Amino acid sequence: MDLIKVNNLKTYFYQNKGFLSKFFGEGLKTVHAVDDVSLTIQKGRTFGLVGESGCGKSTLGNTIFRLVKATSGEIFFLDKDVLKMNSANLMGFRQNAQLIFQDQYGCMNPRMTVGQIIAEPLLMKAHGDLDNDELFDEVERLLLAVNLDPDSAVKFPNEFSGGQARRIGVARAIALNPTFIMADEPTSGLDISTAATVLNLMQDLQDEMDITYLWVSHNLNQVKYMSDDMAVMYLGKIVEMGKTKDIFSQMAHPYTKALISAVPQISAEKQQETIFLEGEIPSPINPPSGCRFRTRCPMVMKKCKTLEPPLIDIGAGHYCACHLHNNN
Ligand code: SF4
Repeated sequence: MDLIKVNNLKTYFYQNKGFLSKFFGEGLKTVHAVDDVSLTIQKGRTFGLVGESGCGKSTLGNTIFRLVKATSGEIFFLDKDVLKMNSANLMGFRQNAQLIFQDQYGCMNPRMTVGQIIAEPLLMKAHGDLDNDELFDEVERLLLAVNLDPDSAVKFPNEFSGGQARRIGVARAIALNPTFIMADEPTSGLDISTAATVLNLMQDLQDEMDITYLWVSHNLNQVKYMSDDMAVMYLGKIVEMGKTKDIFSQMAHPYTKALISAVPQISAEKQQETIFLEGEIPSPINPPSGCRFRTRCPMVMKKCKTLEPPLIDIGAGHYCACHLHNNN
């Protein structure tokens, strides 16, 4: 069952060039942050979104949540058009769709206790009518669900470690029993064992509560471990998409191959020879013509400069945007 469906989504930002653009609207620069992206996220599964910093993955997630304005395209949540929702429908959507950010401390009011932080969404819930005792019980239940001591409710955010702060973020995110959660670099800055605890907790909650995750990360090992389906983004576009196991076993796009080749492996036999990409990611203000990856691609051909490769199914729902896999 499709939970989220995104069709031809574009999110552009406009930057001033200076005096003229400020007063006459002239010379605005267009940042193509998300450029014609389509994808489907199935209910109860985890969809991983990967790519280097600046590829547009967080902007895509934030656009799905209407935290930033879409320029064009469609976003459906259970067949309801998110971009056309009025404020009442948007409030319902936001109860069903929650976020976990990487900067968990930055998301918590340092003057509120953890109990107040977790109770906040419960108090804001439309038609919420919990009395104080019920609210207290609910906060206790949520703290226990994320393996934190219920006595933590009276403490302040600065009294917790990074891993505990992430778990508080998870408790707050699941308070309204959401169907869908976007986790944006949810373990960034944590050591490996603390990160593993958070990942296992989120997997357990997914099983118990039938949550669907959009997992935004630059960490390919984590996406491989957590996600059922995934998409690789480069400069605002999806270049490869499909089942995670298919992409890791039969990666097709030169960019995906380079990313995966750089992932450290425990076994020396499994370690691939690293493919080093030349140069920096070009500016999304002026992306290269044809294939956006052509300025760094080790397999670049003449037509890559003029012809944009479409994202096509190369077999069993495995999509790739590269002329090497397009015979037309
Ligand atoms: Fe490389 Fe050309 Fe394929 Fe782009 S279309 S990834 S430049 S071979």
